[in-house]
Amino acid sequence: MEISCDCGAFVAKLKAFPKHTPGRLVCYCDDCQAYVEKIKRTDVLDQYGGTEVIPAYPREVEIIQGLDTLKCYRLSTKGGYRWTTSCCNSPILNTRPGFPWAGIFNTAYKNPAALSELGEVKARIYGKYALDGAPFKISNKIAFKDMLVVMPFIIKGKILGMDKNSPFFYSDSSTSIVKPEILA
Ligand SMILES: [Zn+2]
Ligand SMILES: [Zn+2]
Repeated sequence: MEISCDCGAFVAKLKAFPKHTPGRLVCYCDDCQAYVEKIKRTDVLDQYGGTEVIPAYPREVEIIQGLDTLKCYRLSTKGGYRWTTSCCNSPILNTRPGFPWAGIFNTAYKNPAALSELGEVKARIYGKYALDGAPFKISNKIAFKDMLVVMPFIIKGKILGMDKNSPFFYSDSSTSIVKPEILA
């Protein structure tokens, strides 16, 4: 499976897709909404303010081209690392050092047929920040059933060292390859 920015300058391969992904997840939290507002890409949100991601392990993301287009943002010095591209301002994924999680935006998957094979959205979280009127259930924060969707992925990823050798961090696994810009 390949992911890319909107213009195609950045392309990466997901080496184990769809085997290792926990599936389609949507986050309605205020940080995710603030981020796409700041980068002026609210068009990627669903109708109720949700960001859909289909996670992969960082180690299984292989950048094919466009490494030089990557930009890195954080909402604060404690925030996650949110990656976009400079060529066409496409949000690509969110990650953090030492965490076996690359939350890849659904908009970076340019093959909708492959995504539909994943079935329905498995978890919708932080509904307390969602816009009213959603026709589906959104957990207020993170419910136990949402943990059941993602915890096996995270635990297995940690055991197998899937946070290591991330293409987004140097070999110290904590310094990002692009200096993050803090979106104050
Ligand atoms: Zn691009
Ligand atoms: Zn969020």
